[in-house]
Amino acid sequence: MADMRPPAVHLSDQPRELLGAADVRRLAASIGLRPTKTLGQNFVIDGGTVRRIVRVAEVGPDDVVLEVGPGLGSLTLALLPVVAQVVAVEIDARLAELLPTTVRAHAPNTAEKLTVVHQDALRLRGLDGAPPTAIVANLPYNVAVPVLLHLLPLLPSVQRVLVMVQLEVAQRLAANPGEEAYGVPSVKARWYGDVRMAGTIGRQVFWPAPRIDSGLVALRRHDSPATSATREAVFDVVDAAFAQRRKTLRAALAGWAGSPAAAEEALRGAGVDPGARGETLGVEQFARIAEQRQP
Ligand code: SAM
Repeated sequence: MADMRPPAVHLSDQPRELLGAADVRRLAASIGLRPTKTLGQNFVIDGGTVRRIVRVAEVGPDDVVLEVGPGLGSLTLALLPVVAQVVAVEIDARLAELLPTTVRAHAPNTAEKLTVVHQDALRLRGLDGAPPTAIVANLPYNVAVPVLLHLLPLLPSVQRVLVMVQLEVAQRLAANPGEEAYGVPSVKARWYGDVRMAGTIGRQVFWPAPRIDSGLVALRRHDSPATSATREAVFDVVDAAFAQRRKTLRAALAGWAGSPAAAEEALRGAGVDPGARGETLGVEQFARIAEQRQP
């Protein structure tokens, strides 16, 4: 008679299961957690979504991944079997404390790869241990851009980023010069790398479901533009140019340069039309403008 038993499944390095809706609710209830909007607490309840994030992130066995906001561990459990290490930085003490227990329960063989840091990612001043090679995260929506712009200069070892953010923010980060969504985050992200949209995600994969759709953004680090101006000086020009988005650069940069005439001179020196608007310039052009006002 044929052996009708199901084939043996070797779960050695695979998580026994990823978190589903029932797991997420049970874990939240176990620590009395009521998700807050302030901390952007929308937890993924769909294994397909976290697997997709890991796949699109293109991380592998050599990667040390920094995950910001691991929450209840939905994405962490999908990352751990695939990468060398996960360093998870979580602001909420209850979640930071619960995570190692959750990982031991669902994927005991990967538990050694996890380091949890109870910390506000915006206040991170560095990380102990092997330097992270990638950031993969479902970012808290209200601080997504500040978190990215804080971590990219802080952790130069990070070569790749794949983050889930609210769709509008994803579009802003990935926009190119001349596009409607192009603005301060688009230019600043390009200081660090090439940025592209890597997919959209519906609301039903979260608990609680947010009122907006989400997007995946991928960044691949490249050398920052060759310029004698500092990053801070370039970013000052970017901030000034977009603070008055509808104005020409001559007008928008008058405060930064000291006067409209000085702004015009700096723009001409940089080879930029003073009648142009900031939204048409790439990061290299902002760098050229910043160079004009060096001591
Ligand atoms: N990664 C989990 C998932 O996909 O289900 C949770 C994602 S949830 C959108 C955002 C997480 O970031 C929450 O766990 C929240 O507590 C945490 N968080 C919010 N602000 C943070 C900050 N400044 N630094 C670190 N973690 C933060």
